[in-house]
Amino acid sequence: MMKDASDRPVQDDTKPAQGDTRWLRLAVRIVLGLIGLGLVGLAVLRWEANGWHSLVWLTGMAVMAIIRIPYASRAAGKPVAERRAVITERILLASVMLGGTVLPLVHLATGVFDFANYASPDWAAMVGACLLIPAFWLFWRSHADLGGNWSVTTELREQHELVTAGVYSRIRHPMYAAIWLIFLTQPLLVQNWVAGLAGPTSFAAMYAIRIRYEEAMMCAQFGGAYEDYVRRTGRLWPSIRFGARTF
Ligand code: SAH
Repeated sequence: MMKDASDRPVQDDTKPAQGDTRWLRLAVRIVLGLIGLGLVGLAVLRWEANGWHSLVWLTGMAVMAIIRIPYASRAAGKPVAERRAVITERILLASVMLGGTVLPLVHLATGVFDFANYASPDWAAMVGACLLIPAFWLFWRSHADLGGNWSVTTELREQHELVTAGVYSRIRHPMYAAIWLIFLTQPLLVQNWVAGLAGPTSFAAMYAIRIRYEEAMMCAQFGGAYEDYVRRTGRLWPSIRFGARTF
């Protein structure tokens, strides 16, 4: 049985409970997958209306999935010992999914938010496309370095290890730094006030709320080792040290 943040045992209600539910979940996933593929197809067909940069955004989403899926399926087999803020996490994840994927995809496929389109110069879209290269490198390296300790929500695995090497040696949240970069390119690639800004806005809310309880959870689990780690690292970029002071 797992424990929640207040140390009370809680049921792991995310495990597929019955065979029936498992089939239902699979069916829902297949239907959603087919709808997603249909929307991607329509978005590709509408590329001239949306601009070449929309194809860069679509490719970027595919690259993100290709990087994440193998690590996610490996981590899925590792038992969870503790989960934090389960309801809050679900709401935050759903809003990031909506703002970062669903709204832009529906807009590119259908033009539903065309009334809110804007046109940026080509060089701005080029900057967005170029920024995706370091962003995806960091996204990949943070998954590789975190290994089986990765999770999509804030949780601790059984035998969770504190990772302080690789891209985690100078930054505590390299994966969030990568996601920030990816979402900041969204308004440059999806040039629409609604569909372009929904990603960075929803991720900003998630980051601001999650970062505190994620760090509190790590501190409660690893104590002094995590406090030392906090002292020598920055959250999203390496901290600069002047003598004993860290900035
Ligand atoms: N915030 C990190 C990790 C995101 S994945 C980043 O941006 O790179 C979220 C999970 O990673 C959390 O539930 C936590 O259990 C785990 N985690 C975060 N930092 C970690 C670290 N330094 N070592 C091991 N696990 C970590």
